Amino acid sequence: MNKALRKAVIAGNWKMNKTRPEAKELVEAIKPLVADAGCEVVACVPFTNLETVLEAVKGSNIKVGAENCHFEKSGAFTGEISADMLAEMGVEYVIIGHSERRQYFGETDETVNKRTRAALAAGLKVILCVGEMLADRENGITDELVAMQTKIALKGVSAEELKNVIIAYEPVWAIGTGKTATAEQANEVCAVIRATIEKLYGKEAADGITIQYGGSMNAKNAAELVAQPDVDGGLIGGASLKAPDFAAIVEAATRG
Ligand code: PEP
Repeated sequence: MNKALRKAVIAGNWKMNKTRPEAKELVEAIKPLVADAGCEVVACVPFTNLETVLEAVKGSNIKVGAENCHFEKSGAFTGEISADMLAEMGVEYVIIGHSERRQYFGETDETVNKRTRAALAAGLKVILCVGEMLADRENGITDELVAMQTKIALKGVSAEELKNVIIAYEPVWAIGTGKTATAEQANEVCAVIRATIEKLYGKEAADGITIQYGGSMNAKNAAELVAQPDVDGGLIGGASLKAPDFAAIVEAATRG
């Protein structure tokens, strides 16, 4: 597989952090540090910060994403935000199927599929999260599980639409725990995802799709992870909240 055929993407997932003034301060600190990035840089932020961050990134190379969206276009879904609402604001990316949504908010592979299709239909780029729990890894079913999550999430997604999908492999046991998958483990599962894409969409699509690793990636371990042949950048939680750490990860992805 040829890494040069695809774009590395470093995306921050701010989760439920930062008030609007804090969000502005963080983006302003990140901007100069990533101005020469050789990879795509994305900040996925809480809904309440979108307008502030969209304004703050104007004229910079930072793209803005949301952390979720609903699958219906509009209607009686109190507390939800539609993909059209995000697209209309100028948001470019949306994270779908993050393990915290699956664990705490009843997200299933089926609703991940619906949200993915809704986001793509609205013209958003999707960062689709898949990954196994520790028990799945211990039971030796990581590859099958991640392939299944990928397959169900992409049901009904055309080859053309797939060009707007990034897949983030995020082992649940590594998220926010400080336990990182080894570079070999990360690469192995990213390769399984790529092979799944090849079966579904063919070699060209598999060679072209960006597959990130996520799970306690930080300024120290990023270089080894993003240097793996099937790892095209990262989805970053905790370390995306500190400008120098996030910038160091961007720098590692720039070096490749
Ligand atoms: C995430 O939330 O997607 C994530 C990878 O978090 P952390 O980097 O904190 O493990």
